[in-house]
Parts: sequence; C-alpha cells; structure tokens
Amino acid sequence: MEWNETASLLLEKVPPFVQKTVREKVETLARERGKTLVTEAEVMAARDSFMNKPPSVTVTPHAFAKKSEDNKKLSILRKYPKYFDNDGNPVLYQIKCCRGAEVNCPFLIADSNVLADKIRNRLEELKFTEKLMNKIEGQILPHHSLKIAISGCPNSCSMPQIKDFGVHAIEPVFVDPASECIECMKCVETCREDAITVQDGEVTIDMEKCVHCGLCAKVCPSGSIKARKKKISGDDRWKSWSSSQVCY
Ligand code: SF4
Ligand code: SF4
Ligand code: SF4
Repeated sequence: MEWNETASLLLEKVPPFVQKTVREKVETLARERGKTLVTEAEVMAARDSFMNKPPSVTVTPHAFAKKSEDNKKLSILRKYPKYFDNDGNPVLYQIKCCRGAEVNCPFLIADSNVLADKIRNRLEELKFTEKLMNKIEGQILPHHSLKIAISGCPNSCSMPQIKDFGVHAIEPVFVDPASECIECMKCVETCREDAITVQDGEVTIDMEKCVHCGLCAKVCPSGSIKARKKKISGDDRWKSWSSSQVCY
C-alpha cells in the first residue's frame, strides 16, 4: 500500500525496531477503512486506536509542517522544563512573584499572585507564546522569553528591577493636617528610609526618600500619617502605565 509524504515522515519518527509492526497495523486499519493510500489521518487514527485514545483531529499537511518547524525551533529550549507547561506546550513568558502572601510577610501591601493571574490570563488571551514563536526566526533561546516579576512591597524580593517587565505594590502616604500629632515618634523609628521628621508637632515626609511602603501610616496612633489607595509601581519605563491604572 502506498504512503503519502506526511504519513511516511510520521512513520520515520517511530523507533526503527517497531516500524515494521506499525506499518502493518496502520495498513490493516487503512484497508478496514476502505483506503488505498495511507495518509497522516490513517497514521493518527491507528495510533489512537492502539493507545485506546479518542480519535484525533485530522492533521493537515500544513499543520504537520508547522508542528515540525516549531519542534525544530524549540529543540534548545527543551533542555529547560520551566519553558513548558505540564502538557509539554511551550510557554514563552515567566512570571515570578514574591512569597509575601505565602509567608504572611509583615511588609506585604498586596498579594502579587493576584496581578500575576491577571497578566497570565491576558497573555494567554493574546496568544503571546504563539505570536512570539512566529516572530522568531531560527532557534528559540531562553533569553527570547518574556521575564516578568511582581513584588508585594517596595522591598522587591522577586527582583522586578532586573526583568523585562517588573512592578511592585506601593502604599503612598500623606500627612493629614486635620489630625494632631502626639509626637510619639513611632513613625520616625519605623521609617527605614529616614524620610520623616517631627518637630513641634509638625510632621514632614521627604518624598524624595519615601518609597511608599506604608509602614508609618500603620504605626501612627493619631492618624496624622495616613495611607492612600494601594497601587502598583514600576521603574521609569513603566510609570505611565503603572501610576494609577491598576489598583488593589
Ligand atoms: S517583596 Fe515585600 S511583601 Fe514580598 S516577600 Fe519581600 S518583603 Fe515581603
Ligand atoms: S511610607 Fe515608608 S518610606 Fe515612606 S515615609 Fe512612611 S515608612 Fe518611610
Ligand atoms: S507616629 Fe503619628 S503621632 Fe507619632 S510622631 Fe509620627 S505622626 Fe506623630
């Protein structure tokens, strides 16, 4: 029985010591289906029947060629399991979160996993991996994948500052003149940036030094320092995007 080119290519992928048996079984199945030519459809149907799997969707020659091309492109990346999902499909982006929520970190402003899920869903919607694969000519290498990091506070433990895209949560603070400072100095002791001065009941925050960790507002018993809405923030590259559009 004759085999077309794609079916022959599929047969070549089978280990040599079982090729003869597989050929016979595929041809038997093709005959049972009244076929005189073995195509990729017969090979896949035979494979599914041997493996007791539901019938596969017919693979067109174009789809097969595309799959072979993708496999070639991914051969180097296959050394690194982190670039593939549990089904072996490539994932050309990585999102690293800090462990703040997991370990109940005292500095935590917002759970970075919440934003990570939103970003992941959006990248999937956009078919990011597929589009990036189509764009790259030749082998795909680890540095081609998009590296994202999100941290739950300005301490930035997941190192967003060195990724392709990185953000951290912030909790901006302000001095509320309507509340009277009792000069307990807890805010001054708490601020690790040395950004607060309290003199004669007057509280001043140096915004050049402040990193918006929100801790001073948490310890202030009088409400003289208050927190604004929590946000995410990045470096200058992302300021226009991060300044106010995503709030927790
Ligand atoms: S980035 Fe902040 S919240 Fe996350 S683990 Fe580090 S200190 Fe805790
Ligand atoms: S928000 Fe953090 S860095 Fe800013 S003044 Fe308060 S304690 Fe200091
Ligand atoms: S913690 Fe609040 S009340 Fe105490 S010194 Fe600072 S601003 Fe004043």
